Amino acid sequence: KKPANQLEVFDWAYHFDASLFADLMKKHALSLGVKLIDKQVAQVTVEQDSQHISQLVFSDSTLLKGDFFIDCSGFKGVLLQQALNVPYINWSQWLVCDRALAVQTQSNKQPAARTIAKAHSAGWQWKIPLQNRTGNGIVYSSKFCSDQQALSALTDSLTEPMLNAPKALSFTPGRCKQAWQSNCIAIGLAAGFLEPLESTSIALVETAIARIQQLLPTGQYTEQTQQQFNDITALEYEHVRDFIILHYKLNQRTDSAMWQYCRDMDIPPTLAEKMQAFKDTADVLPRAWEMFGKDSWLAIFDGFNYLPEQYHPRADNMPAQCLIEQLNFMQNTVATLTQQTSAHSEFLSKFTKSACS
Ligand SMILES: Cc1cc2nc3c(=O)[nH]c(=O)nc-3n(C[C@H](O)[C@H](O)[C@H](O)COP(=O)(O)OP(=O)(O)OC[C@H]3O[C@@H](n4cnc5c(N)ncnc54)[C@H](O)[C@@H]3O)c2cc1C
Repeated sequence: KKPANQLEVFDWAYHFDASLFADLMKKHALSLGVKLIDKQVAQVTVEQDSQHISQLVFSDSTLLKGDFFIDCSGFKGVLLQQALNVPYINWSQWLVCDRALAVQTQSNKQPAARTIAKAHSAGWQWKIPLQNRTGNGIVYSSKFCSDQQALSALTDSLTEPMLNAPKALSFTPGRCKQAWQSNCIAIGLAAGFLEPLESTSIALVETAIARIQQLLPTGQYTEQTQQQFNDITALEYEHVRDFIILHYKLNQRTDSAMWQYCRDMDIPPTLAEKMQAFKDTADVLPRAWEMFGKDSWLAIFDGFNYLPEQYHPRADNMPAQCLIEQLNFMQNTVATLTQQTSAHSEFLSKFTKSACS
């Protein structure tokens, strides 16, 4: 069992450098006929009557007209937030971390097979071993930790030489009131941001793309389509928000003001209901458009010793001997497979060679 302040997350995606995939995706899109215009958007023209975006003006004064726009301009929210003035719902009363420092270090010859997320007195730190380098970072609350304290905590924890100076980032957790307004849909950080404790931003980009494909297969849409898109997006963000808040709410640290605040804070009613239902029924009730399933919720409830008052009556359907046999079988299977497994570095070099060939 892990100590309460350390979660270790196995995460394949991060063992490959994202820039490699970005290049492959760019080549693929261009081969399908996507036209790339690599320019800075300096101005967005919004028609007064319809409140629709009609064109983008680039910094070299050239124009791009369009009838529909996808805003993926990150935290700047150039189209949806700046041009269409869609308000931002701020969740920082529940998600108090609002800053991060990120730094790359030389890779370890024997990289760990997982991302490590480790709590510190005013937030948490990550360590992501890639093949060519290691990504390190610290996420913290500016209300409870100075930038200098965060920098020292990060640099003191590094085990390999730095490859660059630490990069500072600040953010406001929350989401845009509507992800789709007029003729513009925002996806990714332009639509909202939840701190990276569960690495959810790219997953939310993917579900937004899937939703665009599902709801706009022909490019035609009605007000209902737009409403549906906005309702689903809001639910998805709120459910991820609740799951991340749970990590903070259930903490058991007594050594610092931030963790004390998080333990005592009021939580969204949707999360309170989910927690109460687990206490009462020993079941994790699924909600529509929820990215994290039963196993994820159970890992956090159980990891923090937040347990139901009684077990679920359905558990009596399985005789104890049958359960013991199943668990023994699982234990033996895992033990056998791990004995046969090659070292992580060896697997990575084999796997990437075959994936790239
Ligand atoms: C500390 C931290 C850790 C994170 N960790 C994770 C993680 O573990 N997993 C995960 O899935 N996500 C993580 N994220 C989120 C991650 O950054 C996003 O998933 C990813 O960057 C995709 O976001 P995006 O495309 O919406 O925005 P960005 O990556 O910010 O891209 C926005 C782009 O828009 C461009 N742009 C902005 N303004 C203009 C303009 N006027 N004209 C033209 N172009 C413009 C920018 O130059 C940029 O290229 C993390 C974020 C932070 C801050």
